[in-house]
Amino acid sequence: MTDTKYVYSFGGGSAEGRSDMKNLLGGKGANLAEMANLGIPVPAGYTLTTEVCTYFYDHDETYPSSIEAEADAALAKVEEIMGTRFGDADDPLLLSVRSGARSSMPGMMETVLNVGLCSATIPGLIAKTGNPRFVYDAYRRLIMMYSDVVMEKAAGVEPAEGKGIRQQLDHMLEEVKESKGYGTDADISADDLKDLAERFKATIKEVLGRDFPDDPREQLWGGISAVFSSWNGKRAVSYRRIESIPDEWGTAVNVQAMVFGNMGDDSATGVAFTRNPATGDNRFYGEWLPNAQGEDVVAGTRTPNPLNEDTKNEQNEHLPSLQVAMPEVYEQLFAIRNQLEAHYTDMQDIEFTIQDGRLWMLQTRVGKRTGTAALNMAMDMLAEGTIDSRTAVLRVKPEQLDELLHPIVDPAAEKTADLIAKGLPAGPGGAFGQIVFSADDAVEWVKAGKTVLLVREETNPEDVEGMRAAVGILTGRGGMTSHAALVARGWGKCCIVGAGVLNIDVVGKTISVDGRVFNEGDVLTLNGTRGLVYAGQLDMVDATENPRFVDFMKLADEVRVLKVRTNAETPDDAATAIEFGAEGIGLFRTEHMFYGTGSEEPLFLLRKMIMSGSESARRAALVELYPFVKRDMKATLEIMGDRPVTFRLLDPPLHEFVPQSTDERGELAQALGVSVEDLDRRADELHELNPMMGHRGVRLGVTFPEISEMQFRAILEAAAELRQEGKACFPEIMVPVTCAKAELDDQLALAKAVHAEVCEKYGVDEVEHLYGTMIEIPRAALTADEIAKSTQFFSFGTNDLTQMTFGFSRDDIGGFLPDYLDKKILPVDPFQVLDRDSVGVLVQTGIERGRSTRPNLKVGICGEHGGEPNSVEFCHLVGMDYVSCSPYRVPVARLAAAHAQINHPRD
Ligand code: PEP
Ligand code: MG
Repeated sequence: MTDTKYVYSFGGGSAEGRSDMKNLLGGKGANLAEMANLGIPVPAGYTLTTEVCTYFYDHDETYPSSIEAEADAALAKVEEIMGTRFGDADDPLLLSVRSGARSSMPGMMETVLNVGLCSATIPGLIAKTGNPRFVYDAYRRLIMMYSDVVMEKAAGVEPAEGKGIRQQLDHMLEEVKESKGYGTDADISADDLKDLAERFKATIKEVLGRDFPDDPREQLWGGISAVFSSWNGKRAVSYRRIESIPDEWGTAVNVQAMVFGNMGDDSATGVAFTRNPATGDNRFYGEWLPNAQGEDVVAGTRTPNPLNEDTKNEQNEHLPSLQVAMPEVYEQLFAIRNQLEAHYTDMQDIEFTIQDGRLWMLQTRVGKRTGTAALNMAMDMLAEGTIDSRTAVLRVKPEQLDELLHPIVDPAAEKTADLIAKGLPAGPGGAFGQIVFSADDAVEWVKAGKTVLLVREETNPEDVEGMRAAVGILTGRGGMTSHAALVARGWGKCCIVGAGVLNIDVVGKTISVDGRVFNEGDVLTLNGTRGLVYAGQLDMVDATENPRFVDFMKLADEVRVLKVRTNAETPDDAATAIEFGAEGIGLFRTEHMFYGTGSEEPLFLLRKMIMSGSESARRAALVELYPFVKRDMKATLEIMGDRPVTFRLLDPPLHEFVPQSTDERGELAQALGVSVEDLDRRADELHELNPMMGHRGVRLGVTFPEISEMQFRAILEAAAELRQEGKACFPEIMVPVTCAKAELDDQLALAKAVHAEVCEKYGVDEVEHLYGTMIEIPRAALTADEIAKSTQFFSFGTNDLTQMTFGFSRDDIGGFLPDYLDKKILPVDPFQVLDRDSVGVLVQTGIERGRSTRPNLKVGICGEHGGEPNSVEFCHLVGMDYVSCSPYRVPVARLAAAHAQINHPRD
């Protein structure tokens, strides 16, 4: 026997658990306990902890020896509170068995309802309810779910496509409806349901080779094991990978007394949010269905009724609201809404059931929300005095800012656009893409470089990978709380659900509407903020300045200690970055001025310099190139004003700039006065087998000092001129791809000589600047104490540092990384999220060693990780001064830095 407590009871006004026990009880279990403690009506039940799940997987899918006794005792309490007994022939208690992980994984795991119905209990329940139709409907639902979840999925049976037991039973149900002319499930008679249940059981025996269990206890433990097994089901595993939920967490299982929303017209079920999850409006928001079970709302198979007047929209305005249909129950629910918000001080996502006019709460949890809603709710609750400013800052995830800065459909283009349907605005922003009709196609097409919209009648959790891959999601059925809506909102993805006028044929791969047909591959545009579907491609524009966003970011800026700079190399990018709050440029990649608009002439001169056969020819070409380099550097310095600008010396392997086309080579040969053959020979000389580790970075400056000199002069003269014009500027010179102090000394000697000449030219004693290096090679990090003697700052180039640490070519990971992620060899792409265990150790070592010889060494990061929230937190933790990232990531990094300071304060 162990002392570990594996089972926690709740119900009847008290509970053994609490909301802060999510790790053990899962989110659902912990919150059911909390609601019971608050005196909110919750059907009694018990939670098998996540430790049971861990044990289950560690012990060949078996249970701790004490579990049965604990669960039996908990079941006895449920029986006492509910006044009915499990398996009782006269008055049977029925149970639900549901998953509940620490963090919500909507629809990704399994559920079994109505457990306990069998030949011994059916007559008693019919006698008690006087409603045989209800009982047989509950029974056929049990059979359908149980055979699918327990007898097929959990048993590892892999049916042929379309031959799953659930599909076969669904088909039988449809046949009965068709042959008897029943419009909906609710019309099927008790006799037909009874007959169907018998035929279901025969089919199950035939297909799966086993009897459907007629013993309540066997059903219960079968259900529990199946829910634990579903933690390792395919969709749960993919969802965890996408959401970075660790496999070791495990799920809890909640066994709870059933209450029925499908007992007649006095019964109902619904889902609601204490505030609007799409906009953040402080209004009670939800959907309900009379005479239905919870799965009917979430499955999106019927358009649900609006909860109240506030929730009405074009799709549901003809349906009665709960507020009107059952005013007293609505008032009670509204009071619970207020109680829950006040208690949790955050927006809640709740599920409820009304059985014979009595309200039961089945779930509360912090609701998923769009970035816009997160921002609005945080600022509203701050203004209401419900939360403080730090909590407000934490309420918006850094990743959600992406969505606030997301493109939207150009309103001007929308005015004349070809509107084909209206649906519910389930996920924000705009998106256009080619339509595909299955999740697998979405994934395939995206792999092939296409931009797709995933179109489904309704989505189910199996579609999750495809939903992730698509830029937008469109469904014909379902409400704002349907699976597609929940998942899309969680990701901030453009999504429209319930576009009912569209006739979506996923087999034929067409959408027909008003006599028109759209085929796979046709382009549609979605306005996910308004629920509008357009034919063809419309322009997108950036969301306009939002004053709330500005106020919110001020709160974040007040908190953070890490500075945020940007990677930019044009005055335009610099200006954008300043608008996004950049406090400097952390990486000006000099070579980028040779790409893009207006770069033809400097590019030609650069090529001339590279292809020059001698130092004198190279110097001559550099003289011609010089004014362009200085002009761009000066313009950028000027825009940035008193903010620092880090100019990184030319980095790429020279052959990248060798012209490829015959025409260009001819033109260049003429300018250089050499033959095309000579030029080709020179190009061959520059060719390298492994250019990423070849003649690049500081190595160029060592072998061709004149290239470095030209850049030092451009930076220092630009700065000297600006200062003479009375303008502030702070240039920083950065040497890339360094591996040894001596390289820096070599370049520093050149820089000093140029500095002296510039001072003389402008008649000044000094042109103030910093001299520093990138740390991109493990050797540089390991010898940082030496390197720091010759530099005033370090900037970690974690793109190359990751490449060199993993030995993964940053340009070639596409060939193998997806398999590494699939097989869980790596948890995430290390080029996106800094690998703390390896690259992180080098960074930390580099900082410690560098500061051991130069305590005031300034340290930043300029690899792509500088805009990724988890990596930003790491940079904060290791004591960097700043991060630098692309302009659009600047707000994300600012917020991530604020979160890091709140969660891990540093001086
Ligand atoms: C880096 O290597 O992290 C870096 C910023 O430099 P680049 O990406 O230009 O190689
Ligand atoms: Mg680099």
